[in-house]
Amino acid sequence: MNLDQIISNARKAQISWAANPIARSAALSAVAKTFTAHRDDLVNLMVDEVYKPITEARGEFARAVAILEYYSQAVLDPDGTSVPTMDPNLILSLRRPYGVAGLITPWNFPVAIPIWKAAPALAVGNAVIIKPSEFATKTALFLQELMAKTLPEGIFNVIPGGADIGVQLVDSADLISFTGSAKVGGKVVARAATLGKPVQAEMGGHSPAIVLPDADLELLVSHIQIGAFSYSGQKCTATRRIIIVGDEKRKAEVVDALRSGAEKLVAGDPRDEKTFLGPLIHSDSYKNYSDAIESAKQIGRIISGGRIDASGKNLPSATLTDSIPAAHQLMCEEVFAPIAHIATVSTTDEAIALANSVRYGLTASIHTADLEASLRISRRLNTGMVKVNGPTAGVDFHAPFGGDKDSSYGMREQGKASLDFYSHTQTITVNSGVRKFQ
Ligand code: NAD
Repeated sequence: MNLDQIISNARKAQISWAANPIARSAALSAVAKTFTAHRDDLVNLMVDEVYKPITEARGEFARAVAILEYYSQAVLDPDGTSVPTMDPNLILSLRRPYGVAGLITPWNFPVAIPIWKAAPALAVGNAVIIKPSEFATKTALFLQELMAKTLPEGIFNVIPGGADIGVQLVDSADLISFTGSAKVGGKVVARAATLGKPVQAEMGGHSPAIVLPDADLELLVSHIQIGAFSYSGQKCTATRRIIIVGDEKRKAEVVDALRSGAEKLVAGDPRDEKTFLGPLIHSDSYKNYSDAIESAKQIGRIISGGRIDASGKNLPSATLTDSIPAAHQLMCEEVFAPIAHIATVSTTDEAIALANSVRYGLTASIHTADLEASLRISRRLNTGMVKVNGPTAGVDFHAPFGGDKDSSYGMREQGKASLDFYSHTQTITVNSGVRKFQ
């Protein structure tokens, strides 16, 4: 089917889907059960198609099911308010779906991202059309197969393809949710805005981890391992900069701990439970990784990793660098690979200024036992999310997700915020008419 046919079917199917919230709740709950019954198939597909290490793929799968369960219940939440007016008249302000939601997704969370867009869109009564990444087509088509077991025909659709199909979807759907690079996101937002369509875009990041002088090093190491290196750094929320507050002695201690933590991480076959870093998604991405290592060697220092894989398997190593100037491209722009840059400053004010100095503002982490300092610093960070004593990557599935500056555009994803994006309100005034009885 071409996009015009898919849109036309989706428009027809959406009318009865929107009319019955009880049926929507039951259907989304049934989808969660269908997914659970196909857990291993979905997990293995993610491992094979996007090289997600199996332990992480299981985590992504569990998140997707939790999201489906959450939104299956959210369908039954109150869907509006009543506004005071003269008795016995009534003014209602009610949530309405837009119609057909166009969802453009990246490859790096091939199950969780399509689901965290589709589930709230479906919950409030839209039909959805997903344009998945060219690198995650098989997983997206399998999602469609699973959805078709439960949802009415025409409600959940996948249209594989490249940028041209993405452009067509922006032109045809009623609202657009995009996740991907800032470069493509900028185009999608501009096009949707020109057409007057609601749009949200979640894009890249360059997240900082601020390490205060009292941070516990064992805990810090485990958070940086996950934040900077899990899924080989191929996450928008990955830690790209580690900003140590302290003197030379403290810096040496922190760097030593981080180096030995990074060197312990195993790179290899994503099917192997012991693998922490799988291959990068494609050779262009591997070229960006090796170019970044080359520049880091020239202008700064490699602390750990920095190895180039000669086998052609695109396997990276957990790389930490030091002494890269703050204005250098590596310290400002996303390289989608396991590379994090260390910088040392003397005060928290300098740490905040450095953290805020990039065009992105997705997430940040602060590592300290000082609760007061963590809250004070959080409020001064220009990021959509802050993790205190946790990895920059990973936020609970029911909390608002999104960033500031060039990382995001429009309303937040996940949680209740998402229901607001996928619906608009209609105000209905009901006047009482002629009184016939006392
Ligand atoms: P990408 O921007 O290359 O592609 C994203 C999607 O857009 C794909 O489906 C692609 O086919 C489509 N597309 C490409 N050109 C288009 C156009 N002109 N119009 C409409 N659609 C078009 O991104 P990617 O390589 O798939 O993913 C990696 C990027 O995604 C990284 O920058 C990462 O930071 C970002 N990302 C952000 C988040 C977040 O929530 N902030 C989450 C995951 C990934």
